[in-house]
Amino acid sequence: MADNNYKLDTKLIHAGIEPDPTTGAIMTPIYQTSTYVQAAPGDHKGYEYARTQNPTRTVLQNSLAAIENGKFGLCFGSGMAATDAVIKLLAPGDEVIVSNDLYGGTYRIMTKIFANYGVKFHFIAMQDAQNITQYINSNTKMIWIETPTNPLLNVIDIAACAEISKKHNLMLVCDNTFASPYLQTPLDLGADIVLHSATKYLGGHSDVVHGALIVKDAALDERLRFIQNSCGAVPGPHDCWLVLRGIKTLHVRMQRHCENGEKIAHYLRNHPKVGKVLWVGFEDHPNHDVAKKQMRGYGGMISFTLKDDNMDAALSVLSKTKLFALAESLGGVESLIGHPASMTHGSIPREERIKNGLVDSLIRLSVGIEDIDDLITDLKEAIG
Ligand SMILES: *Cc1c(COP(=O)(O)O)cnc(C)c1O
Repeated sequence: MADNNYKLDTKLIHAGIEPDPTTGAIMTPIYQTSTYVQAAPGDHKGYEYARTQNPTRTVLQNSLAAIENGKFGLCFGSGMAATDAVIKLLAPGDEVIVSNDLYGGTYRIMTKIFANYGVKFHFIAMQDAQNITQYINSNTKMIWIETPTNPLLNVIDIAACAEISKKHNLMLVCDNTFASPYLQTPLDLGADIVLHSATKYLGGHSDVVHGALIVKDAALDERLRFIQNSCGAVPGPHDCWLVLRGIKTLHVRMQRHCENGEKIAHYLRNHPKVGKVLWVGFEDHPNHDVAKKQMRGYGGMISFTLKDDNMDAALSVLSKTKLFALAESLGGVESLIGHPASMTHGSIPREERIKNGLVDSLIRLSVGIEDIDDLITDLKEAIG
């Protein structure tokens, strides 16, 4: 089928997916096999060994390429495995400019793993994209952004970064985990590589760990595929199948995440005990104009502080919610609540954390798709 001529809601269900050629099964089978029989050496049906190719994975890779408006998708065993593959495009001496409000695991692999291999990372504020240019030198190879950011919900102008990246002949990597292709498609805005932790919104049901890359350029795809096959951090077919199944309802889930997110953001903003509410959809969000330009909705990720800004007050709220489950991760159908200062961002020194706005009482919500009245009642009872 001509995948790229359909609108997103159709592509989510059909793109890349054909009935199984041998049985006609409408759903992609889980090809649980490690190898494929050849008629004679080299005479095979495109599949030799399952680290290199698997038909379930192929279907998912084609679906991912179509929904991100790319040409090639590559699947990995986790979002971090996808991140690892991208950084392996680099060589010792190369430099990367990275947005400073970053997923903790991405910061860790850069500073604790790849810094030891001689790759240099500059972590900088990018709310004003022009800030990037002063860090570019002859060793710079890559710009790495995440938008919206976690947990402070900053927004970075993807098109402005792409312009700088192209001008200096760099590669722009955009982690699109938070937004998902339902809310934004960075390849359309000039990014070279889109990265996903499909563990989050793409999978959507908190039942799989999975990562993905999507690109348009065939030569770049070939380099990444070489790394994927050489290093071997590939997902199993069952995990690919779970992500394929998740993708089919991305649009309906995201629509509800956005609706519930908006209502909860406004509820919290009017709550007398709540301090700041960070949500990309507020018109007075510092980068709302950029969000409005590059996003098709504002999602269900919300962070807020308490007027009584201390750990105990935050921990008390966390201990009282019944529907919002206390857990790391995000993007599933169920609502989650977290405390970055003691959970995901606990390893950052307190002073540095607070300087960046990540205060002691900051609470992060991944708003799920439950009934909105029940969710608000849950927060009302927990905050008091
Ligand atoms: C979770 C996450 C990752 C890492 O993905 P895993 O699937 O957990 O390895 C990377 N980036 C962002 C923004 C994430 O939220």
